[in-house]
Amino acid sequence: MSDLSRRHLLAGSAMAAVAATLPKAAHAAAPQSGQQGPGFYRFKIGNYEVTAINDGTWYRKLDASFVRNAALPDVQKALADAFLPTDVVPIPFTTLVVNTGSKLIALDTGTGAALGAMMPQAGTFATNLAAAGIDPKSVDAIYISHFHPDHINGIKSKDGSLFFPNASINVPEAEWAFWMDDGNMTRAPEAAQFAFKNSRRIFGDVAGKVQRFVPGKEVEPGITSIAAPGHTPGHTAYSIANGNKSLLYVADATNNPWLFVRNPEWQAVFDADPNKATETRKMLLDRAAADKMLAHGYHWPFPASGYITKTAKGYELVPAMWSPNL
Ligand SMILES: [Zn+2]
Repeated sequence: MSDLSRRHLLAGSAMAAVAATLPKAAHAAAPQSGQQGPGFYRFKIGNYEVTAINDGTWYRKLDASFVRNAALPDVQKALADAFLPTDVVPIPFTTLVVNTGSKLIALDTGTGAALGAMMPQAGTFATNLAAAGIDPKSVDAIYISHFHPDHINGIKSKDGSLFFPNASINVPEAEWAFWMDDGNMTRAPEAAQFAFKNSRRIFGDVAGKVQRFVPGKEVEPGITSIAAPGHTPGHTAYSIANGNKSLLYVADATNNPWLFVRNPEWQAVFDADPNKATETRKMLLDRAAADKMLAHGYHWPFPASGYITKTAKGYELVPAMWSPNL
């Protein structure tokens, strides 16, 4: 035995002797919490304060239908390359609340905890909003990207009352025209009926309060709506600009980024017009890359913001780094 290892051994026995004299309570383990912490994250765009609010995650079973134009083994490989499970796709939900200094504006509203059976790990929006110190009564305006239930259901509480009672409700005209049309509902396949009925449940009795807009204009100071059709007929993105900073809210132009940012040609099962959606996805990702804007994807990993770079076959998301400073 070398001198070095003998010294270690002796030191080890000395430690063991000391440990034996300590009261057993010193080794008692603290109870594990068993739950995740609050899901909100705050950052600045110029003088605007932005808070990302997480509404949980839907773990959707992966099947051959999930990506329409890629083989299941290729999709599984893309998930494995991102260190994700290959039997389910994690689809988180993260909205943004923008404080311009004079107005509080929500971009999309989450699932309203109304899709529980389908996605039991979703529906944390209200809890996380409270944890972020934001009172729903103080929200002045809601802007909706599209009428899928995970974006509009948070407009209402479970009892049917308005969750943001003092907020104006602003929706893209083309979304309203498509989803609120009874003819479209009648013609829609069985699987799509739910979204039509759900749109009526959310908007039916407050129709008079809903303001419709055609995208392409500044809707609030520094916030501009951008037509981004394909995912749904009236799907709308938003840019937030203040000072020399800007953010592009791409909403559902891409689902899970390790699938659809890396492979922008891949078409998710959720896209109503897959070719149009692909065109829109590339248009938005090109813009984020060219302008070096912070981008925010509603279904990206929390806090769901990052930068986009171009690669040989698509794009890469470079997640924004958590910062203790605003
Ligand atoms: Zn969505």
